[in-house]
Amino acid sequence: MFVDSSIRFQFLILLTRWFFKRRKSVAMLKSSLTPKVEKKPNRRCDLASTFDVQSINQHEFQVTDGSRNYLVDLQQMTCTCNVFNVDKIPCKHAAKAATSRDFNPGLFMHQYYSKANIGAAYSESIRPIDELLEASEIPPHVVAYKWFPPDLKEVLEDL
Ligand SMILES: [Zn+2]
Repeated sequence: MFVDSSIRFQFLILLTRWFFKRRKSVAMLKSSLTPKVEKKPNRRCDLASTFDVQSINQHEFQVTDGSRNYLVDLQQMTCTCNVFNVDKIPCKHAAKAATSRDFNPGLFMHQYYSKANIGAAYSESIRPIDELLEASEIPPHVVAYKWFPPDLKEVLEDL
């Protein structure tokens, strides 16, 4: 019982530190995107510098990498290579399609990667002390003790 409570308490302490550290990191972000993905669309666009883009309509594009053709839909966040469909970060083809219309490819990232979403994920505070009090047993001599308010006359005499 004691070991379980101790492990639970240590785990809650770890979560408290983890959540606090992430909330602090999110508050310090200068970009509206999470750091691990904010540069990906532009890097992918650099890799697609030699690709050809043909607009089909306002949202759809045919992108050719020299050997294969890909269909990109920026509104639906899809590409026939399936990279954009899965990770919701513009693939090389989608990034190239976006820049062909002078759009920043970062605009076509899913909101999963937004600063607001990551902040919401860590917005709850974890208070291990409250959990410890719930988990611990109150000793019987404390439960049996009768608590009475202080005698007002004695309190006033001490002042
Ligand atoms: Zn693609």
